[in-house]
Amino acid sequence: MSDTQTKNVDPAEIQKFEELASRWWDPASEFRPLHAINPLRCQYIDLYSPVKGLKVLDVGCGGGLVSEGLAEFGGTVTGIDMGEAPLNVAKLHLLESGHDIEYLKITAEELAAQRPEQYDVVTCLEMLEHVPDPSSVIRACAEMVKPGGHVYFSTINRNPKAWLMAIVGAEYVLNLLPKGTHEYEKLIKPSELEAWARNSGLASQRMTGLHYNPLTQSYTLGQGVDVNYMIHTTKPLA
Ligand code: SAH
Repeated sequence: MSDTQTKNVDPAEIQKFEELASRWWDPASEFRPLHAINPLRCQYIDLYSPVKGLKVLDVGCGGGLVSEGLAEFGGTVTGIDMGEAPLNVAKLHLLESGHDIEYLKITAEELAAQRPEQYDVVTCLEMLEHVPDPSSVIRACAEMVKPGGHVYFSTINRNPKAWLMAIVGAEYVLNLLPKGTHEYEKLIKPSELEAWARNSGLASQRMTGLHYNPLTQSYTLGQGVDVNYMIHTTKPLA
């Protein structure tokens, strides 16, 4: 049995990102939406969990946009991913940015066994919809955060509007993302994400929508979680 078959990893999903990785830091590439949203989502996280001097874990870090964004705010960041090429790009980019970030090729579940309750802030953004069992990743994030710490998840809602906007619109009409980036059945409703978080002992604090405006090609955060959304949860003090 291959390595990934025993883990909560879908090799076809990892492959999608391996192929695109060299363009990760090109804001005009397939990663344009992530570049466009990055300052907003990092500011949102830093607003509710000021990361300066804190230990941060970025799960499914890819080329390191969130890891670097939070390092910029003063966090001591570890980024993990199961993609070889995205991690190599993330490490190379440190030469340019000058940040000091620990990047590891490991699953959230494996790191949770090694480093329980070690992180003040855990982020897992735009990753859960690419994983066979998202609830297992959420549980691992809950295990790695310290009591009193914060965990952020972002993903795409599952409903006809989300299908139209995030799949048909983004992949087929606007060509923002490669076709096949997201599969409808893997999208996650906020109620499902909140239930998994709650079952892992995380308390939901707030939720925000991430809205794309194709005319201005920019994102805003705000009400309305029917397409892209982010959830802030906390682990109660023991
Ligand atoms: N969080 C980053 C990247 C999102 S792209 C951002 O928002 O900017 C999704 C990333 O999840 C890819 O880098 C992919 O390799 C990674 N990924 C997918 N399945 C994974 C798994 N099971 N374990 C770790 N990383 C995974």
